[in-house]
Amino acid sequence: MEKLEEQKKTEKKSKILLEVKNLKKYFPIKAGVFKRTVGWVKAVDGVSFYIRKGETLGLVGESGCGKTTTGQTILRLIEPTSGTVHYGGVDLLSLSKRKMNKYRSKLQIIFQDPYSSLDPRMRVKDIIAEGLKSAHIGGSRKNRYDIVKKYMDRVGLSPLYMNRFPHEFSGGQRQRIGIARALVLNPELIVCDEAVSALDVSIQAQILNLLDDLQKDFNLTYLFIAHDLNVVKHISDRIVVMYLGKIVEIANKHELFINPLHPYTKALLSANPIPDPTVKRKDRIILRGDVPSPANPPSGCRFHPRCWMAKPICSQEDPPLIEVQPDHYVACHFWKEMAEQN
Ligand code: SF4
Repeated sequence: MEKLEEQKKTEKKSKILLEVKNLKKYFPIKAGVFKRTVGWVKAVDGVSFYIRKGETLGLVGESGCGKTTTGQTILRLIEPTSGTVHYGGVDLLSLSKRKMNKYRSKLQIIFQDPYSSLDPRMRVKDIIAEGLKSAHIGGSRKNRYDIVKKYMDRVGLSPLYMNRFPHEFSGGQRQRIGIARALVLNPELIVCDEAVSALDVSIQAQILNLLDDLQKDFNLTYLFIAHDLNVVKHISDRIVVMYLGKIVEIANKHELFINPLHPYTKALLSANPIPDPTVKRKDRIILRGDVPSPANPPSGCRFHPRCWMAKPICSQEDPPLIEVQPDHYVACHFWKEMAEQN
């Protein structure tokens, strides 16, 4: 019986909910009186990955690496330049705006800043009920408010506060409002875009635990975007590492931390703080230079000007993202040398 349950769980886990292929988002650089396009900022430049139903996929990288643009492009909050995003077998990017609206309730987002992501002139009950109203769910206004009360309670907010305005809440409470707003539409996938980055550490832990509980209760799938590796490690099943608009490595979180195969991942991990003041880090890797501009990315491997393992081929040929071990993908010409160093 237990074996059957295990097998069911594995099958459920292995079902792919969302598949992104060669997704690109280029922003035009305009100049002159006539605002002519003089170049392109390649914010997302050909990323491919999938998310299994019920899992949390972490997406990490430095500021400006394209992780937020990736999340927003998947949901079509900004329109992509090219690529495909298959959700339940349907390419979301090929849908008209009207048809896309049918999928909006299933694909939700929690934004980074709980202060600016809530309309200060709206009462909390109306902020949370807004999605229900636009999706014509819930029937009468009274019924919608009853649904709001239920979800406020579930995210740890007293329904007694439903008539209050966002400024009457703390940062953590506002993020709970944002979570209730996403949850009320009964979504399958939630993009958590730096959802805890603006919060104090103790509040971060509460929100992460809440997201964890909600995932179990509502069978949610998360794309969890963050720059803090400890946060991503805590919540994710697998982790995608991005650098300058491209994916450089994807692996199970335990595999990634034990056996990073891309020099950039290794450098990120080496900079990750150890929560023990008595432990001295010996293997810190200091990257030289700044992140290059995505408007003018380096040739070949984009990481080569900062990479201590770079060889001549690195500036000439862009390494493809390949599966080097089951479920472990890396884009580096010299991943084998890195594996030997680990
Ligand atoms: Fe470094 Fe070359 Fe690998 Fe790029 S391909 S990460 S430059 S070793």
